[in-house]
Order: sequence, then C-alpha cells, then structure tokens
Amino acid sequence: MSEPAEKAAKAAKAAKAEKAQKLDASDELAGKRAEFVLDDVVYLDGNSLGALPAAVPGQVEDVVRRQWGELRIRSWTEGGWWTAPERIGDRIAPLVGAAAGQIVVGDSTSVNVFKALVGAVRLARLTDRGGPGRERDEIVVDATTFPTDGYLAASAARMTGCTLRPVAPSDVPGALGERTAAVLLNHVDYRTGRLHDLPSLTAAVHAAGALVVWDLCHSAGALPVGLDEHGVDLAVGCTYKYLNGGPGSPAFLYVRAGLQDRFDSPLPGWNSHAEPFGMRADYAPAEGAVRGRVGTPDILSMLALEAALGVWDGVSVDAVRAKSLALTDFFLECVGEYVPEGRVECVTPRAHAERGSQIALRCPDAGEVMRRLIERGVVGDFRQPDVLRFGFTPLYVGFAEVERAARVLAETLAETPA
Ligand SMILES: *Cc1c(COP(=O)(O)O)cnc(C)c1O
Repeated sequence: MSEPAEKAAKAAKAAKAEKAQKLDASDELAGKRAEFVLDDVVYLDGNSLGALPAAVPGQVEDVVRRQWGELRIRSWTEGGWWTAPERIGDRIAPLVGAAAGQIVVGDSTSVNVFKALVGAVRLARLTDRGGPGRERDEIVVDATTFPTDGYLAASAARMTGCTLRPVAPSDVPGALGERTAAVLLNHVDYRTGRLHDLPSLTAAVHAAGALVVWDLCHSAGALPVGLDEHGVDLAVGCTYKYLNGGPGSPAFLYVRAGLQDRFDSPLPGWNSHAEPFGMRADYAPAEGAVRGRVGTPDILSMLALEAALGVWDGVSVDAVRAKSLALTDFFLECVGEYVPEGRVECVTPRAHAERGSQIALRCPDAGEVMRRLIERGVVGDFRQPDVLRFGFTPLYVGFAEVERAARVLAETLAETPA
C-alpha cells in the first residue's frame, strides 16, 4: 500500500472504531452482556450454540444436588418437574408472539418437525378432503431447507401417502393447490440468513386450504415472529441457538389453540395421555399443549433452559430486532470498508425485511478463512460449500466487537489471497 493509501485506511478504521463506541454507548441492551459468561473472544456463533447465561450453572447445580440428590422422586410433583414442559413453553410464548397454553417444550427440533408435519397432514385431511374424490396428497417443503427438515419431510410424506414437492420459498405460492396438505417452511434460512415473509406465505397456504408448519430455529429469540397474529398453524423451534438453552436443550412445539383438540400426534406417548398415571391400554390424548408431549421430559437440560430464559426478563423482542439490524448493518458497513471489493460476496439480503440475525459471506476458501479467524479470536462458522457464517446475538454482542470482527476478517483475507 502507498503511504497516502495507508493513511486513509488508518483514518477509516479510526472513524469506524469511533462510530462503534458511540453505538455501544447508546445501546439499551448493552447491560445484558454481563448476564452471560463470555471472554474477549468475539463470539459470532450464537446462531449455532448460544453463550452460557451466568445463572445457569448455579441452577443446574441445585437441580442435580438438591432436587435430584435430596428430594429425588418428590421433585416430579413438589419441585414442578412434571409441569416443566408447558411452564417453560409459556415462558417462550411471548418471545414468538404466542398466547399461553400453545407451546410445549421437549424432544429435539427434528422430532418436533416430524410431529408437526404429520400432524398437519392429518389436520388438513380432517378439515378439507381436497378435490372431489381425492385426498390432499402433497407436502411442500422448502427446497433449500436445513437437511434434517428435508429428511423428515420425505419420511412424513412416505408415511402419509403424500408426494414430497421441494420448492424454493419464493415459488411456494405458485406451487400450492387443492392437493396440498401441508407446507414446511423456514422462517430464516440457516445458510444465507434470508428472512422469509411469514405473514404472506401463511396466508397463501391457508388460501389453498392447507396447513403450514414454520421452523423458527433461526428466528426465535432473534426477531418478532407473531405466531398468533398471523394465524400460523404449527411451529417448531430450537432453544440452544438464540435462546441460549445449552447444547442439545429441548426444542419447542406450537400448536395453535384452535387446532389442539384435533391435533393427532404421530408420536403419542404416556406423557401426552389424558390420564398418564391411569396406565391404560387405550390411548386418549390430553387437552391443550400437553398433547404434543411424548415421553418423560429431559429434566436436566429442560431446567437449564428454564434458567437460561431468565435473561429475557424485561427485554422486548422489538428492541432485540432493532439492535440485530443495527449490528448486521454495521458489520456490512465495516466489511464494505475493510475488505477489498470482490473478495467476498454477501449472500444475506441487504433489505431489512429479508434479513435474519446473521450475515453469510461467500468466498472460495471459506473453510480455511474461518479456521484462521477462529485462531484469532473471532468465532463464526463455516457452512459447506463456501459460506462464512456470522451470527449476531443482540443480548451479548456489541458494536466494537463487530468492528473488530470485520477488521480481523479483512486481515485474514489479505493473507490468504483466493
Ligand atoms: C438448528 C436447526 C435444526 C436442529 O435440529 P436438531 O434436531 O436440534 O438437531 C433443525 N432445523 C433447522 C432449520 C435448524 O436451523
């Protein structure tokens, strides 16, 4: 670099650093960071595994030592273990725009995708049998979906005698018809960070007489979802990403109140029985969200999640969304300033209405670049084949960190010319 160019670059960095400082100073969520266990690593992988809320270790210790160790079986009743799946569901509900009584926590996202999708096909066939003489027999799935959703949709289709139609989300409205039974969509694409239009896609599915299942893995805890407001039928979501519940923490299942009495889970277990301790040979489903349960809840990880959800006290999802957009905007701005034109391609939409809480940059040597970034204390992740993924969790990521991440990225890219 020539001397004047070097001077200009230095000035640009100083200006960005100053801007970061101002943004941090006026950040109403800045105080939340102290509620997490973090260090000086810039952690931009909260969309894969959220950071540890500081209250969790003590709570887990109590669950193990006192509730399990001393109270033992009494904790199921006296300690509130038995009702934890719905209690924690109600705690998640306001974060995704749902009234109480519609969300149950338990099992993995994968298992809940299966329950929701088979349940949706069964519901669709109950309410409207499709064209004359034929049952609704198609499941539409996002063709770019996270693999597990695609595998489960294929299996759900085989089980219910449906044909699976993988369709790009933007083509979904045109693919719907009187044969469509259910549609499985992602609110935010895990690879590109694209936010799909939940209200209009939900309305399109309903206009075709079908049911929609939304996968909220990359939106729950990151942006407003409005499940009740938009009349979503069923939804599933992950709790170890933006909800910081811990590795493998149980997922959630939402079944709209108006559908609950007809929801026919493909995995009925004794925990979803109307009278679980009746030990009856015949299955009779419980009323309400409980119907989405299967077997004994995974109490240790479920109560770790409950403790983790404490960080949401007094936090509005709108404030989280506003900060998320400011963080991703600022990251794009710094990348634009620091990274030479053409070295990376941003695959996340620039429009706020189409952006989740991550930025995905494509470059041919993404795997190697991410390995080096992590060595330098900037943790994002690599997604095949060529995507650098950076997740921004507004509860604990600050603007100075964003500037540092972009600066280290530019340095790393300069060293490894593609
Ligand atoms: C993270 C994620 C999952 C994870 O499913 P698990 O059963 O928890 O492994 C599923 N679907 C999507 C879209 C995801 O982003």
